[in-house]
Amino acid sequence: MFDVIRIPAFKDNYIWLLRQGASAVVVDPGEARPVLEVLERTALSLAGILVTHHHADHQGGVADLLARYPAEVFGPATDSITGLTRPLRGGETVHIAACDLTLQVIAVPGHTLGHLAYYGAGCLFCGDTLFAGGCGRLFEGTAAQMADSLARLAALPDDTEVYCAHEYTQANLRFALAVEPGNRFLSRRAEQVAAHRAQDWPTVPSTIGIEKASNPFLRCREAEVAAAARRRVPGARDEVAVFAALREWKNGF
Ligand SMILES: [Zn+2]
Repeated sequence: MFDVIRIPAFKDNYIWLLRQGASAVVVDPGEARPVLEVLERTALSLAGILVTHHHADHQGGVADLLARYPAEVFGPATDSITGLTRPLRGGETVHIAACDLTLQVIAVPGHTLGHLAYYGAGCLFCGDTLFAGGCGRLFEGTAAQMADSLARLAALPDDTEVYCAHEYTQANLRFALAVEPGNRFLSRRAEQVAAHRAQDWPTVPSTIGIEKASNPFLRCREAEVAAAARRRVPGARDEVAVFAALREWKNGF
C-alpha cells in the first residue's frame, strides 16, 4: 500500500505523489518545481507520471521532471501529452514495478474527450472530472458523456478516497446548497469545509460515499435536485437533462 503526499501547485491545484519504498509516482504534475522539492527532500526516485488529461496545469511539469528522472509517462492516447510512453484509452490495468503499484484506468470523457481516471488500493485519482462537491466543466465532451463518466466513478465503493486535482470544494458546496438547501448532510459538510478552509486546511480527499450524499452532480435523480434544475430549465425531464441544466447553472453561479 502506498502513501499519498499532497503537493499544492499554482493557485488551487493539487499534485498527488504516491510513495512506496524508495520510489514515487506523481499524478498531474502541472509544474515541476514543487514535485522536485518533495523528491529531493524525501530522497525518492520518480518512477512514473500519470496524466489524467492534456490541460497545461496537469502536464506542464512533465518535461522538467523527465530531465531529472527516467520516468514512464502514462496518459490519454488521444491527447498530446509530453513524453508519453504508455498511451491509454481506459479499461487497462497499469503496473509500475518500481513502486509495486497497480491501478485500473477508467475512461471518463466529458471535461476533455480523452480524460482518464486512475483507481487502485481504494484511491481514485480523477483529475478534473469529479471534484469534491462538484464536477469539471464540459470543455470537449457532452453532458451525456460526463453524466455517464460520473456514474462510473459513483459506482466505486463508498469508502474510495477521491483525490481530485483542485481545491474547489468550498465554492462547489455553496452551489450545492443553492441546488439542495434541504440536504442536511450537505449543510453539515459545508460547515466543516468552511471551518477547514478558514484554517487553510485541505478538503481533499473526500470519499465516494460523501460525494454521493452531497454532490449535486451525482444526485440528479433526487427529487429536490431535479426540481431545482427544472426551475431553471423546465424541459429538463431525464437525468442527463437535469445534469446539463445543473452544469449550465454552475457555469454562471
Ligand atoms: Zn482540466
